[in-house]
Amino acid sequence: MPAGAMMDAARERDRADPLREYRDRFALPDGVIYLDGNSLGALPKATAERMAGVVRGEWGEGLIRSWNPGENGGADWIGLPRRVGGRIARLVGAAPDTVVAADSTSVNLFKLIAAALAMRPGRKVVLSEPGNFPTDLYMIAGLEAQGLAERRLAPRDRLADALDGDVALLLLTHVHYKTGEVFDMAALTRAAHDAGALVLWDLSHSAGAIPVGLDASGADFAVGCGYKYLNGGPGAPAFAYVAQRHHAALEQPLTGWMGHAAPFAFSDDYAPAPGVGRLLCGTPPVLALAALEVGVDLVAEIGIDRLAAKSRALSEFFRDCLDGLGVALELASPADPMQRGSQLSFRHRQAYAICQALIARGVIGDFRDPDILRFGFAPAYVSFEDAARAARHLAEVLETGEWQREEFRERAAVT
Ligand SMILES: *Cc1c(COP(=O)(O)O)cnc(C)c1O
Repeated sequence: MPAGAMMDAARERDRADPLREYRDRFALPDGVIYLDGNSLGALPKATAERMAGVVRGEWGEGLIRSWNPGENGGADWIGLPRRVGGRIARLVGAAPDTVVAADSTSVNLFKLIAAALAMRPGRKVVLSEPGNFPTDLYMIAGLEAQGLAERRLAPRDRLADALDGDVALLLLTHVHYKTGEVFDMAALTRAAHDAGALVLWDLSHSAGAIPVGLDASGADFAVGCGYKYLNGGPGAPAFAYVAQRHHAALEQPLTGWMGHAAPFAFSDDYAPAPGVGRLLCGTPPVLALAALEVGVDLVAEIGIDRLAAKSRALSEFFRDCLDGLGVALELASPADPMQRGSQLSFRHRQAYAICQALIARGVIGDFRDPDILRFGFAPAYVSFEDAARAARHLAEVLETGEWQREEFRERAAVT
């Protein structure tokens, strides 16, 4: 496809795109093509307004009264973790009272890994795959150092064989952060249950990007991130899911007062709240939860099925553009768009320098060690024209050898 025809095709696709109006609901800087929503989601315009309202009105005017439920003249700050959790639940195929928004993904992993181990006395192995997201592996290692867990790693095609009678928990990331490869949630959940183990899914790259059926797949536990496809803002609270059938038996070790059945009874003795409320620990971060709520509501308004369909169309279009431009990069993601999340990754020995050269041109993707060039297609605000332009920039960076410039090759400490 010649470059001109490619841009025409992109604009045609944008005109026909049912989600095109949503781009304007996000505050994106001019001159930037943002292909990193899988790392930090863009800012919804409504978030700034909501934050001002929460800060000036609820905090400034309402003061401590804002903790109260609405019927008592408050802003129901106390209900935020459950309320936002309930909205996230609908995006991941879970009943509303099975999810809370709280803490970070890492902390929620700790709570749920420990809870799972307590539910399988006599078993200590937590099974995962090498190359899983670092924090998932590190959180198992921490419990191992305490003598509470034993970490076992098996490559994804060997996981089923590694599920023996010692495995208490299978812990996997549903959409792989580097390659975007998707696990068959229902099949692996079944395999783990057949071996007597529980399953914990990390949905950090799934929630807000692709349809997930937690309840339908029979999953036991899940965690996920609020600042990626849910657009909750930097360091947004994460979420945690516990299947209804485990609510009564669930014991997690971070027994803070906000997870107490009656926090304001100020009793000396801990008694867990009914249901997922017992996953809460300390006082919820109200400002951060309010920002997350706006992001989650926007994703829910657009709808997961429409988002997933557009993301597949965008990533396929990007590949077509690269083909048309004669760019032959090694695809690290599955070629079948149904087998991957909302991203495309490529392998190149100079991935770091290429990524830096693209950023200098205003095309923000990211690099993942050692050789992955990753482009996220957050479909709520990325257009087909963005995809075509990004492909053209990538072709030019490769053709001109621009990435070889010294400034692009020096690695910064934080990228
Ligand atoms: C982004 C991400 C996290 C983030 O964990 P934090 O505790 O929020 O820093 C965890 N797991 C996966 C798979 C991720 O992609």
